[in-house]
Amino acid sequence: MSEQTFDVIVSGGGLVGASLALALARQGREVALVEPNPPALAGLEAGWDARIYAVSPQNQAFLASLAAWPGAERIGRIASMDVRGDLDGRLVFSAAEIGATELASIAENRWMLASLWQAIRQSDIVVIEGQRARHFDSDVRQAKLTLDDGRILKAALLAGADGANSWLRREAGIAASVKSYGQSGVVANFACERPHGECARQWFLGDGVLAWLPLPGNRISMVWSMSDSARLLALDDAALADTVARAGGEALGALTTMTPAAAFPLRLIRPEHVVRQRLALLGDAAHTVHPLAGQGVNLGFQDAAMLAASIGRQGDPGEWIRLRRYERSRREAVLTMQTACDGLFRLFHQPALPGLARLRNTGLSLVNHLGPLKRQLARVAVGF
Ligand SMILES: Cc1cc2nc3c(=O)[nH]c(=O)nc-3n(C[C@H](O)[C@H](O)[C@H](O)COP(=O)(O)OP(=O)(O)OC[C@H]3O[C@@H](n4cnc5c(N)ncnc54)[C@H](O)[C@@H]3O)c2cc1C
Repeated sequence: MSEQTFDVIVSGGGLVGASLALALARQGREVALVEPNPPALAGLEAGWDARIYAVSPQNQAFLASLAAWPGAERIGRIASMDVRGDLDGRLVFSAAEIGATELASIAENRWMLASLWQAIRQSDIVVIEGQRARHFDSDVRQAKLTLDDGRILKAALLAGADGANSWLRREAGIAASVKSYGQSGVVANFACERPHGECARQWFLGDGVLAWLPLPGNRISMVWSMSDSARLLALDDAALADTVARAGGEALGALTTMTPAAAFPLRLIRPEHVVRQRLALLGDAAHTVHPLAGQGVNLGFQDAAMLAASIGRQGDPGEWIRLRRYERSRREAVLTMQTACDGLFRLFHQPALPGLARLRNTGLSLVNHLGPLKRQLARVAVGF
């Protein structure tokens, strides 16, 4: 059976794996990218993708440096945020308060994927599609991946970006703690009656978190974390739009459904390690977070940027010292984001504790009046 050898094999060509493969190829590394289902590059104009991301300016710059940032016509921006508690708590902050033009850009999943894959198709990256990895092995010198068709790929490093249910993580015997939030994230897009003013709105509703993110024009994208997603998924377009508009206090007038609702399970995944001999995990394979801060994919892009930087242009890409550097460089950012999102989730999901609802709403309003802390929050949002 045939064998091929590379500097790095990237397993998984979602947003995170695709960005890593491109970054490494641009550093002159020989890269193979294994992806069972590469995305379509044509017909993107029709309709809107309900899976959208608030991409930090730092990650927008990373993707632009790879010539993989989508064209401006489908990009929205968040100029300000308006966060409401489940009583009267409120926190409002804007990019202008920290001298920035935006807190984040809003981009659709399939446009970002297509931009990355367009660049990949024009590069020297060897794309292996329609195949999954069947066996993984490593020794001190290299990693070895056997594919479904029996082909063997070897490399100094195997990068696992194969998503939250990572096959590689399991195959490598890396234990992970998985905590279900007992909730799903329901996503859908809507046309809105009134302009959103490039403001991202979020409501802590007691039994869930509702977010409206501004798309270009009079459109918004919703992410609603809730335990009873089946109820929302069963509604017809008109009833869905009506329910979502009412949950947000009709802040933008009437809504009209543009894309049907879809749901994804919310889990907190923490692997014991993200590196092993000749193996590094990144993206959802390395961590998941509650989407209430919209930071899942932002963490993944920073994994890709930091792993590429640790690997560098020369020398052994899978050298243990480089892998440890990568692991250390990501540990704090990932832990901070997981802890913050998990803490907020728990703070707003403890209705039984007397006085807590009042306390958390007062806290939100207090931060609103503390200039430095509020500016610090805005800086975190833009990834300063
Ligand atoms: C409906 C939905 C809405 C979401 N909305 C948000 C949001 O609003 N904000 C947010 O931050 N996050 C959101 N997320 C989560 C976000 O999509 C993920 O954090 C992000 O996609 C992670 O990227 P990734 O490249 O690490 O993994 P993935 O996007 O999961 O990509 C993994 C890739 O690996 C490939 N693969 C799988 N198995 C193998 C294998 N054995 N061998 C090789 N390749 C393999 C898959 O085909 C896939 O292309 C949402 C997720 C869903 C499903």
